[in-house]
Amino acid sequence: MSDAHPAGRGLYCNRTLNLRAIRAIGYDMDYTLVHYRVEAWERHAYEHLRERFAAQGWPVDKLEFDPAMVIRGLVVDTERGNLVKANRFGFVKKAVHGTRPLEYEAQRATYARTIVDLAEPRWSFLNTLFSLSEGCFYAQLVDLLDERALPVVMGYADLYRRVRETLDAAHLEGRLKSEIVAAPEHFVLSEPETALALLDQKHSGKRLMLITNSEWTYTCAMMAHAFDPHLSHGMTWRELFDVVIVGARKPEFFTSHSPFFEVATEDGLLRPTAGLREGRAYLGGSARELERHLGLSGDEILYVGDHMFGDVHFTKSVLRWRTALILRELEQELSALEEFRKTEGRLAEMMDEKERLEREQCQLRLIQQRRRTSYAPAGGPPNEELHARLSQVRDRLERLDSEIAPLAKAASELVNPLWGLLTRAGNDKSHLARQVERYADVYTSRVSNFLFATPFLYLRARRGSLPHDPMVPGGTPLVPATA
Ligand code: IMP
Ligand code: MG
Repeated sequence: MSDAHPAGRGLYCNRTLNLRAIRAIGYDMDYTLVHYRVEAWERHAYEHLRERFAAQGWPVDKLEFDPAMVIRGLVVDTERGNLVKANRFGFVKKAVHGTRPLEYEAQRATYARTIVDLAEPRWSFLNTLFSLSEGCFYAQLVDLLDERALPVVMGYADLYRRVRETLDAAHLEGRLKSEIVAAPEHFVLSEPETALALLDQKHSGKRLMLITNSEWTYTCAMMAHAFDPHLSHGMTWRELFDVVIVGARKPEFFTSHSPFFEVATEDGLLRPTAGLREGRAYLGGSARELERHLGLSGDEILYVGDHMFGDVHFTKSVLRWRTALILRELEQELSALEEFRKTEGRLAEMMDEKERLEREQCQLRLIQQRRRTSYAPAGGPPNEELHARLSQVRDRLERLDSEIAPLAKAASELVNPLWGLLTRAGNDKSHLARQVERYADVYTSRVSNFLFATPFLYLRARRGSLPHDPMVPGGTPLVPATA
């Protein structure tokens, strides 16, 4: 067995994490232990949404789910009916009104003085892959609202609330899920290696827990489908976990003191319970009570989930559990970056040349200024030579700009032509990337990547870079990456 992981399937580390010191691991289910075929699941959810609006007489029959319209990490500006991508400081780098991209000037006029602050109710962050149907449908309804084609008069924020409430209802009501339970092979991507990764952890002495917001029947169906065929000797998914918690109501689970109920029968009958017992399944409850049951402190517990707010935000900020975020899109993102690497190098070379020329241009201009007004010695070459060089520099800069523009555009369209990479916004980290670094100690594309790390690895964070660090050409820090 080799410890090298396939491309894009590393465990990327923001804060040093010694897996050996972790005594219990809690897993989220949907999009963490069980990965769905995103397009199929989201189209299905979208169709349920559309059906519910159509039943109220809304003209939505012709609308179609577009899986490329929205990516995780975008922010809905509910005040303006826009979807925006922000950088790590909350500056808007790209915006779409309804389904139409805003032109540069309109975007500047709208957002030049605005900072995306997720603590304000105006903004809604698309936290998970479950958000794609919601984002797409909302954008399409904004178009209809603008055309005055909707049967009710409402603002963009009211419209968003309606979409959210309707999607909540569709997720909660049985039909959407029962159609998935009836044909899981159409919706669940098979991942045989996940079972082995969990077995490795269990046999190394770590206690495993499933903590999902999904309800009991759905959880049983998905877990049995995803795990049982990959376990031997008649073992079932239930035996992988010391504790199973369904209907957990994350993120409240991490902050509340709600009581646990025991799932007493296979069909989900509940009974009150005084404490937790090994091997049992529960509904509701709280992380504090779970900690007490485990007899562990927060830094001995790792929680692995895909939802930025529900799974890792409070887990880190309130409980100080160790956290791992599952970001499946990383694989596609890293392979696109790899393919683009040569062009990226060329782009970096041209940017270096541009910067050198701009510096020279500034120096020459300063000489001109000092000569004009004689307030200080100017130095520099004779005037004729200086003018010739200035015009040479200007020409070269113009040519460089025209060569840089298409490459920079291609860089901004990697993976998704409209939004580009999840983790980048312009030349900077995206808002999503900033949240990942704040709340997730490690992040990785899928749970089975723990196989390559083994249950024992000491994951070390890279030395953080700062703008004043010595650089080599192309913007790479000169200082070795690991401390
Ligand atoms: P978890 O990721 O295992 O905690 O479970 C996520 C659960 O939340 C699944 O049962 C989803 O159906 C449900 N869910 C996802 N998005 C929404 C939503 O927008 N409203 C209500 N439930 C949702
Ligand atoms: Mg999840």
